[in-house]
Amino acid sequence: MEKKALLYEGKAKKVYMTDEENKLIVSYKDDATAFNGAKKGVIEAKGIVNNRLSNYFMKMLETKGIPTHFIEELNDRETVVEKVTIIPLEVIVRNFAAGSLSKRLGLEEGTRLNKTVLEYSYKNDELGDPMINDYHIFALDIATKEELDMIEAYAFRINEALTAHLEEVNIELIDFKVEFGKTSKGQIILADEISPDTCRFWDAITNKKLDKDRFRRNLGDVEDAYQEVMNRLLVHDN
Ligand code: ADP
Ligand code: UDP
Repeated sequence: MEKKALLYEGKAKKVYMTDEENKLIVSYKDDATAFNGAKKGVIEAKGIVNNRLSNYFMKMLETKGIPTHFIEELNDRETVVEKVTIIPLEVIVRNFAAGSLSKRLGLEEGTRLNKTVLEYSYKNDELGDPMINDYHIFALDIATKEELDMIEAYAFRINEALTAHLEEVNIELIDFKVEFGKTSKGQIILADEISPDTCRFWDAITNKKLDKDRFRRNLGDVEDAYQEVMNRLLVHDN
């Protein structure tokens, strides 16, 4: 497969066309941003860890019947994925209160939620990714009722599979964000990435944060935390 023109450069990844119409190459960068791009930095080797981890999780989810964009890992930082039209929604699933939910509802971080919470943000940098509900989604023609039902069902199944898998390596899945897209055949599949950039991972025993909050909040040990998640999963599999 041949890498062709750069299609898009985002905050964390570059996306390239290929000589095959329905395939893209995603290249993970070490660049880190937070607060809608207001805080910028570099997390050494983050691109390598996130590429590996995201592929690891997507492969695991495929075995649980969740269709994903993953096709083939090319090298440390690059992966071939199925090209989709991204549905402009950040689908957020929360098991424990943290981050913006804690602020909004005055809940202490780490409070277990009695029921899993599903939220949507409209993926639009200019507007700062505002939170929206299903009425907005239908009013703006972002997805149909059938598509949203499918997205919701996948999001809960992803949560169950990831939570159970991470429990085995003593990591609590606090919350996460996923994106879905539509293939050329109209199928909805999981796209983008699943990594410490897009999830909150806490050590189940010490509650140490093993995710991007270390960067957002200047907690130090950022590189080690990303590596730690990867190492635990690799040890688990051997
Ligand atoms: P951002 O756009 O938020 O800065 P990234 O740096 O992660 O994010 O850029 C990657 C972009 O590629 C995102 O906009 C994401 O929605 C998009 N994307 C992820 N997977 C696919 C895919 N399979 N097909 C098309 N676009 C994708
Ligand atoms: N998240 C993300 N991208 C975003 C916003 C949130 O990946 O643009 C993830 C974030 O890492 C966390 C979850 O979604 O795992 C919930 O984030 P929250 O709404 O609490 O926002 P934050 O505190 O990150 O601003």
